[in-house]
Amino acid sequence: MRAYVDQHTCIGCGLCAGTVPEVFEIHDGGRAFATADTTEENADLVEEAIDSCPVNAIRDEE
Ligand code: SF4
Repeated sequence: MRAYVDQHTCIGCGLCAGTVPEVFEIHDGGRAFATADTTEENADLVEEAIDSCPVNAIRDEE
C-alpha cells in the first residue's frame, strides 16, 4: 500500500515529510509526494501524517 497526496489540496507545509521522511518528500513544486510504500514498520507514522495533514490531502491507497 502506498499513500496518495492530492496535489491540488496539498499546501506544502512539510508536516508529513517531517513525520515520516522515508515515505513523504516535498518535491520541486512545493507539494508532497509519497515516494515509498507504507510498511508494517511505518504504518503508524503514515496514519499520524494522514490525521495531522491540515488540509486532509493524504489518503491511503491500495
Ligand atoms: S501535511 Fe498535507 S499539506 Fe502538509 S505537505 Fe503533507 S500533504 Fe501537503
